[in-house]
Amino acid sequence: MKNWSGNVTFNPSVLVHPTSVEEIKAAVLAGERVRALGSSHSFNTIAASDDVLISFEHFPKDIEIDTVAKRVRVASGVRYGELAIALHSAGLALPNMGSLPHITVVGATSTGTHGSGLSNKNLSAAIVSIELITASGDDLTITGDELNAARVALGAIGVIHHLTLQAVDSFEVAQTIYLDLQFETLLLDFDAVMGSGYSVSAFSIWDDEVIDQLWVKSRVDLDTLPGDDLFGAQRASVKFHPLEVGSTESATEQLGSIGPWHERLPHFKLDFMPSFGDELQSEFFVDRKDAAAALAALHAIRAQIQPLLLVTELRTIGADEIWLSEAYGRDSVAIHFTWKPDFEGVSAFLPTLEKTLAPFKARPHWGKLFTAESFDFAELYPKFGEWITYRAGLDPDRKFINAQLGAWGI
Ligand SMILES: Cc1cc2nc3c(=O)[nH]c(=O)nc-3n(C[C@H](O)[C@H](O)[C@H](O)COP(=O)(O)OP(=O)(O)OC[C@H]3O[C@@H](n4cnc5c(N)ncnc54)[C@H](O)[C@@H]3O)c2cc1C
Repeated sequence: MKNWSGNVTFNPSVLVHPTSVEEIKAAVLAGERVRALGSSHSFNTIAASDDVLISFEHFPKDIEIDTVAKRVRVASGVRYGELAIALHSAGLALPNMGSLPHITVVGATSTGTHGSGLSNKNLSAAIVSIELITASGDDLTITGDELNAARVALGAIGVIHHLTLQAVDSFEVAQTIYLDLQFETLLLDFDAVMGSGYSVSAFSIWDDEVIDQLWVKSRVDLDTLPGDDLFGAQRASVKFHPLEVGSTESATEQLGSIGPWHERLPHFKLDFMPSFGDELQSEFFVDRKDAAAALAALHAIRAQIQPLLLVTELRTIGADEIWLSEAYGRDSVAIHFTWKPDFEGVSAFLPTLEKTLAPFKARPHWGKLFTAESFDFAELYPKFGEWITYRAGLDPDRKFINAQLGAWGI
């Protein structure tokens, strides 16, 4: 068993496919060490287990929608794309989505997965209730203030069987791509450029002093649709993929065509291979007020970045109060790297990249590649110590801790 990228091999001694909550409980009680698996899109060994690994492939795909409260209760194993289709047909929407609809709701929220938007929070912020099996086999429901400790919990507080999310009314989005924005313009007016739509992504290969592609996703009901020129960048007249080598067929519709939220907010369509496939990824979050300085520091080492890089993506995430969210307490910019599939080369370079971003107190994406030794999570996350205590209260014998979490000081 490998992860989506193929860079991680899972070797559990027992692979369990529960079909009911009772079977999850039995698997949790039987195992000494237990981890749960989503769609295995993470690039590190966060989901790995050397003992029991729980897959949700055969678990019933419950999607229970309450149109009055605008809430949806969704089972582990359900992917964002599946949830989005059901919500949309009930006249509802999620406030935001990640770049791909293929990931599971539970796996994605467990690592703080995000989309973009100056005030759009990460996807975990929509959680209003978590139902999970704890280390002692109890079926626990978490709501209220405790959610901030549990919404991003890296699979370390128990095995989640259902989440309830707050939805919003359905909305339409137009996606337009702009080409060759001057890098200098982005640095001078970062918030204005990244705020030029409901959700904006900037793609660059750190070449020619330009941001190659600006993907602007505008809400038809809220935003003024942008014209032919945006901060000097020109509106594209043909469809693009973020990568020169990628197929535009897999990308969501562009050229300003209006469509439902779930067919425009992700970059990639559910029925196609997202991104490139043969790749690795890393991502680092810094305070948005440090965006220009952090990007200038990376620009200075771009000659070292470029040989390993397929593309960089910049996105923004609104501050939240989720203890382990990469955007905890600060409006953030996420600086993402889609790397070529050169694990040794990327691993050797990451400490240099991480040192460059250290003055900005960069927080790495929990589901992507980074060097454990480069980060002091107790310093980066003000609530880290409290979270460790909270987690230990639910799992004193460290049933849900694997080697990867141990290496991060958990
Ligand atoms: C092509 C590609 C594009 C991506 N785009 C984005 C993006 O736009 N934004 C972004 O932020 N990230 C992005 N990612 C990263 C991805 O969103 C995260 O790695 C996410 O966590 C993957 O979700 P998953 O369902 O595959 O979970 P997995 O990788 O399988 O697991 C992730 C974590 O969730 C835990 N988990 C899973 N199920 C349960 C459960 N039932 N109970 C308890 N814990 C559980 C696992 O133990 C693990 O700790 C991308 C990844 C890829 C491959």
